[in-house]
Amino acid sequence: MRLEEIYSAYDKIVQSGYLPYIRCKKCTHTFFYVRHCCPKCGSRDLEVLRSEGIGKVFSWTKIFRKNDTSIYGIVELEEGFKVYCNFTSDVEIGDNVRVKIDSLGDGKYKLLAYKL
Ligand SMILES: [Zn+2]
Repeated sequence: MRLEEIYSAYDKIVQSGYLPYIRCKKCTHTFFYVRHCCPKCGSRDLEVLRSEGIGKVFSWTKIFRKNDTSIYGIVELEEGFKVYCNFTSDVEIGDNVRVKIDSLGDGKYKLLAYKL
């Protein structure tokens, strides 16, 4: 798959409100951030798939600002890849969460994780 094809497939899934990810057809490694080849084996035989968005909290941290506190961290999805996202409530490592993608236009988006 060419990089433009991957971005295009990603955008279609994001526009439909789902979380996309990439799976290597050679070694089955999965990853989220767009790359033109598999970071594990280097293969360019990739496919873009739609995640169900269900995963577990892998790590988290609280960010304190003058007038605001937010919780930020990493979720490991059931499909095996990890994403950085904002949590909508207090969480503990191992909690079950649903990750939703919020398109901001121009290929930009933010990821929000809701405790299940
Ligand atoms: Zn691979």
